[in-house]
Amino acid sequence: MYSGKYESGIILLSDSTLKMASKQGVDAIQAPSPSFDSPLISVEHVSLDFKKEKEQLPVLNDVSFTASKNQFVTMTGPSGCGKSTLLRIIGGLTKSTSGVVKFRDSPITSPRAEIAMIFQNFVLLPWRTSLENVLFGLSSRKDLNEDQKKQVSMKALEDTGLKGFENVYPGELSGGMKQRVGIARALALAPQVLLMDEPFSALDDLTAEHLRREIYSLLINPTSSIQTVIMVSHNVEEIVELSDKIVVLSPRPGHVVGDLTMDLPRPRSKKSEEFYNWVDKVYSLLAT
Ligand code: ADP
Ligand code: MG
Repeated sequence: MYSGKYESGIILLSDSTLKMASKQGVDAIQAPSPSFDSPLISVEHVSLDFKKEKEQLPVLNDVSFTASKNQFVTMTGPSGCGKSTLLRIIGGLTKSTSGVVKFRDSPITSPRAEIAMIFQNFVLLPWRTSLENVLFGLSSRKDLNEDQKKQVSMKALEDTGLKGFENVYPGELSGGMKQRVGIARALALAPQVLLMDEPFSALDDLTAEHLRREIYSLLINPTSSIQTVIMVSHNVEEIVELSDKIVVLSPRPGHVVGDLTMDLPRPRSKKSEEFYNWVDKVYSLLAT
């Protein structure tokens, strides 16, 4: 089902690469080193208060961190601490009360073509087919005509293993396949930054593991447009498996209580002591 083509600019893994990755862990393929200079995304002193009738609800308190080229950055923290809100601010969908988020030094004030978002619950339009859902995500692309939009969408669906499912409605797809449509919709935009809000938490373990590998391969594949990934997750093993950087937020109002650079070599074995030392480290920060 996987195309395994690399020429398109967007993904994906061939069957044999996937088999190799499943044997050896998420990153059996040679990963370029993350660079720590010139961040693609910088979150600078971001605070946000929601207005609730007459009261103010402080949600984020002076949050700063960066995401650089080739970095897989994970944000974690207790439920309700403002993770989704922060991701929406980075995506230009919500405005902060103070502070700024920059994409390559330019302040983000509204959604931008270089930044795409994948949601936990897929957010597909049930009355549109897979293809129409992906096309819908391209509706703001004035530079493409209808034929080009269709071509780009078909390619994104093919690259995410959905060839043959173009005309199927979300109700007929499994959770994993719905999330593939969500990923295809993001990839069709050829974004540099991929934002993901708990993208695997609604999926069964095996499907989640498979998609984790595919998303990581997007980041490290030099022909993919994706240059950095910022993921929200509360699954500590998933975080330790994937991250180059872990940002831990406190309970609401969220502020950064840990900004950890992960030096654990890849491939990362869940059976190693080092892996569980990291799991412990993240848990202890979550408990603060
Ligand atoms: P998390 O993703 O970390 O679980 P959220 O960012 O979804 O947390 O929410 C943080 C807090 O902000 C919660 O208390 C939530 O109820 C509140 N909140 C989120 N969105 C809004 C909104 N649009 N208006 C008012 N309060 C909101
Ligand atoms: Mg959330």
